[in-house]
Amino acid sequence: MSLTARRVIAIHVAPRLAVATRREPTEGNTFDLLGRPLRDLRVSLTDRCNFRCTYCMPKDVFNKDYQYLAREQILSFEEIERLAREAVSLGVEKIRLTGGEPLLRKDIEVLVNQLSQLRTPDGGPVDVTMTTNGSLLARKAAALRDAGMTRITVSLDALDQHTFSAMSGSDASVGTVLDGIEAARQLGFSPVKVNTVVRRGVNEDQIIPIVRRFKGTGVTPRFIEFMDVGSTNRWELREVVPSAELVRRIDSVFPLTPSGARPGRATSRTFDFLDGSGRVGFISSVTEPFCADCSRLRLTADGRLFTCLFGAEGVDVRAALRHGDGDLAGILRSVWYERSERYSELRGESGAPGTAQHAEMSLLGG
Ligand code: SAM
Ligand code: SF4
Ligand code: SF4
Repeated sequence: MSLTARRVIAIHVAPRLAVATRREPTEGNTFDLLGRPLRDLRVSLTDRCNFRCTYCMPKDVFNKDYQYLAREQILSFEEIERLAREAVSLGVEKIRLTGGEPLLRKDIEVLVNQLSQLRTPDGGPVDVTMTTNGSLLARKAAALRDAGMTRITVSLDALDQHTFSAMSGSDASVGTVLDGIEAARQLGFSPVKVNTVVRRGVNEDQIIPIVRRFKGTGVTPRFIEFMDVGSTNRWELREVVPSAELVRRIDSVFPLTPSGARPGRATSRTFDFLDGSGRVGFISSVTEPFCADCSRLRLTADGRLFTCLFGAEGVDVRAALRHGDGDLAGILRSVWYERSERYSELRGESGAPGTAQHAEMSLLGG
């Protein structure tokens, strides 16, 4: 029986409240002020990108006059590895490389190889993965796999070339990104996920074609609600297409059934196709915030730690990494220990985005 028939669509608009309990750190476990463990590290490798997605790096702001980070401000692979090693000792099990466009970073496979060697305090492997726009993936996928990467997420907002060009602000072809996805699939990356940011009236008509394109291929499409991240993308609530609406639309063409409770810390809610041909995910940061399960620490390319995607400044650890100024593990622990952010839940409660300036997504990494 399909979702529609059973009327079990269960995307709640009301945010879940974070549980404000202080838990003491133990080895391999560091908890923040709301009792959330440190589990994930997102590393932005560069603030540059070869795309100009309208919702992330609009062309009129990220133009030739934009002040990108200078080469000497950017962390080396050794510096990133050192920070990651400390983070893993405090509980991080998963590292996602992002940006900007991470594949613009030369010899990225060297870093992937270094990070893949890290071990958790109980000797377990660290999951090293990446989010990429896919434009350079076809030529890089084998090197990434050989360096130890087994999972990957590729962003793709449209199959229609005209819509893709308008949304990505680039002259890349959809075919190039599809080739990258296919290369990853052929090389055995699993899962391969495809991220699609949905904007009302812009790429809504691409949802069903994207689902149809990947259904039965082992690739999982994930639809992301347009977020008010950064300060330049002119976000408006009316452009957000709620995941509940997308679930209904997809279900009416390809019947779905919930994949079960969202596992703790997962950002997406997933649904299986009733015919067993795969699954589809929804990242609903606006209509269904998941702050209560957010275990993500972000490191910017210039060495600042952010404990929320909607932060403004971050804590600078570059000097500690570069010159040994300060106790790196102590800084990391206290940054996480003092964390209390839950921006999306508060936005949900107030019904409006906060007014503070946020750092840009291209700096923080998605
Ligand atoms: N350049 C890479 C890419 O596009 O996959 C990695 C960095 S990008 C900032 C990471 C993810 O953030 C992408 O999947 C992108 O679609 C998503 N993203 C960027 N801006 C967003 C926004 N305003 N709302 C929702 N998702 C956004
Ligand atoms: Fe670049 Fe990714 Fe941002 Fe698009 S979403 S502009 S590809 S960093
Ligand atoms: Fe995590 Fe901040 Fe996003 Fe909430 S708003 S899920 S705390 S990054």
